[in-house]
Amino acid sequence: MTDVRVRVAPSPTGPVHVGTAYQALFDLVLARKHGGQFVLRIEDTDQTRSRREWEEPIFQALRWLGLEWDEGPDVGGPYGPYRQSERLEIYQEHAKQLVNGGHAYPCFCTAERLDALRKEQMQHKERLGYDGHCRDLSAEDVAAKMAEGLSHVIRLKMPGAGTCVVKDHLRGEVELDFAQMDDQVLVKSDGFPTYHLAVVVDDHLMKISHVIRGEEWITSAPKHLVLYEAFGWEPPQYMHLPLLLNPDGSKMSKRKNPTSVEYYRRAGYAPEALLNYLALMAYPPIDGDEEMFSFGQLTEDFDADKINLGGSIFDIEKLDWLNGRYVRERKTPEQLLDDLKAWLLTDDYVGQMLPLLQQRMETLGDFVPQVAFFFARKVAPSAEDLVPKKREAEQVVPMLQTAVWALDGVLDWNKEGVEAALRGVAEYWDWPVRDVTVPLTVALTGQRVGPPLFDSAALLGQDMMRMRILDAMGVLGGLSKKKVTKLEKEWTRR
Ligand code: GLU
Repeated sequence: MTDVRVRVAPSPTGPVHVGTAYQALFDLVLARKHGGQFVLRIEDTDQTRSRREWEEPIFQALRWLGLEWDEGPDVGGPYGPYRQSERLEIYQEHAKQLVNGGHAYPCFCTAERLDALRKEQMQHKERLGYDGHCRDLSAEDVAAKMAEGLSHVIRLKMPGAGTCVVKDHLRGEVELDFAQMDDQVLVKSDGFPTYHLAVVVDDHLMKISHVIRGEEWITSAPKHLVLYEAFGWEPPQYMHLPLLLNPDGSKMSKRKNPTSVEYYRRAGYAPEALLNYLALMAYPPIDGDEEMFSFGQLTEDFDADKINLGGSIFDIEKLDWLNGRYVRERKTPEQLLDDLKAWLLTDDYVGQMLPLLQQRMETLGDFVPQVAFFFARKVAPSAEDLVPKKREAEQVVPMLQTAVWALDGVLDWNKEGVEAALRGVAEYWDWPVRDVTVPLTVALTGQRVGPPLFDSAALLGQDMMRMRILDAMGVLGGLSKKKVTKLEKEWTRR
């Protein structure tokens, strides 16, 4: 095999999704199998959603799983910079090259025009998409508009008809219809590239040999292939991994299952068990039907042809079973003690709990029982405790749902952020704050009384807190899909 170079390219917009770790795992296995290199690239060209503060948690989560990269923004390497926001000139030069070669063009269409076009297409039940209005502007027109300083994007000229054959290492040849794809924006009006331009330029310049990514990207591959062709470059080999699914077959999402690597770390899963489980999402048991295997065994056995494309159902109960086997069969008590210490029994973490508890203690013996919920994977709130006086369960469940959304919107997860979000929830329902904090305290601790709610939620972490509220909603009978949709509309309109 030619030099294997693979990459994982997370966007710093939130906690690392287990799907990113799953992809990175197969990247690393392929790289280690063939003595290649594994690159971490930060895709932060979406200025509205990317935040620098998210990078460190991404590094930590991937490292916790043992998915170490050979090149990346923090470790350097010969093909840097590895952060896309530091490569803007490179993309601009390449976009210019495409425009000069007649493969791309500036488009001056305003948001109003595109809106009107969309409405018209909807009315006529036509395919939605750009109509190529600026595709054939004369050089004079373009120059005049540029001189006027009109805002514009750069669009890729797509063929508009014919079949695109995407060669996927796992699926063979996948045929996609060019007629369904309009002229993709490559450079936004803020001068930042879109994913499509940046990914192709970077994968080429970083000499990526295999692009392993989620199945949801396969429909983007034709745009990428058109770009490779326009630049006169050889495309990489593609492997689109099957998506991770919820047990009901829908795409895995945090509405139903915890999706962040951080959640699993915080809930006390063993990194090697989570990694093993992620491997099983697309790889068969190695020795006969033994589902427990290490990264080393997987690397030794690895054969891309063995990757299965069936549904990859991420079932937490199965993960629990596998994790339990690691705890019972693979760990000595000494190792478990080390694991506990590295996990949450740290001076730092316990030290942050003490100020919350000090005023509620008479002896040291009062500490552990009152903080047990910080260490528990789950708590067991009772339906009765979750409903404050003079309220009904039917009122509390929707309130809890809005608390999930409000807390999901907290960018800086700290006491103040939590407090502001929950006060917003009380305001939305026009309830006294107590009627919000009482059920949330019960959801968080499993008890009616506990240490201060906002501080405790801050310390528990955003992903654990979301799951505790979802669990509490389940205890109260949950909310139908229809009700969620309706409530979400009202909530976003607030
Ligand atoms: N930034 C993309 C993501 O976060 C990367 C997709 C790819 O691997 O090409 O999913």
